[in-house]
Amino acid sequence: MANLQIAVVAVTAFQQNCTLMWDEESKEGVIIDPGGDNDRVKEAISELGIKPTAIWLTHGHIDHAAGAMEMKEDFGIDIVGPHKDDLPLLDGLEKQAQMFGLEGQVRNCQPDRWLEEGDVMQIGEHQFDVFHCPGHAPGHVVFYNKKAAFAHVGDVLFAGSIGRTDLPGGDHEALINSIKTTLMSWPDNVQFICGHGPASSIGQERTSNPFLV
Ligand SMILES: [Zn+2]
Ligand SMILES: [Zn+2]
Repeated sequence: MANLQIAVVAVTAFQQNCTLMWDEESKEGVIIDPGGDNDRVKEAISELGIKPTAIWLTHGHIDHAAGAMEMKEDFGIDIVGPHKDDLPLLDGLEKQAQMFGLEGQVRNCQPDRWLEEGDVMQIGEHQFDVFHCPGHAPGHVVFYNKKAAFAHVGDVLFAGSIGRTDLPGGDHEALINSIKTTLMSWPDNVQFICGHGPASSIGQERTSNPFLV
């Protein structure tokens, strides 16, 4: 089995980790959360020789989804995810842009396919289970590759912190529940990339994250 390769490009003023994951051999891969600065992401894609096959969205916030429609058109690929509970957020991206003074740079986003708990996504032979983890956003999903002990958790859990819940649709109790029932059910050795800041592991957060201990 060829290795799964991962690269992160921090985009926008929010330093969002737009993530590229691809199969070493076929070079086919996905773009997770193209939130903007698409030129820099496309530069990385061309330098690394990746052939994008889909865009995956973890949730519908502007820093994760603002570049999705343009990226979809540039590569002729589908937008997959998040869960349909984020429809109002994706329909309201232009409104979110106004809140942050970014009007005119952002388009509302229409995914080609919604995701649900239990869906299975593939990058070549690499398999990712989809989990619906509401709290930071109602339709937030995460991607877990059990075999590789690797996950992409978006803005659910960070190194030493958790997603904010003061934005529209946020729910602190739901977020803690998502983290405890889903992410904390994974083994300690699972490494994860998150939407902002450095990567971490489930074991590290289980023992030291101040929101969980
Ligand atoms: Zn977010
Ligand atoms: Zn974010």
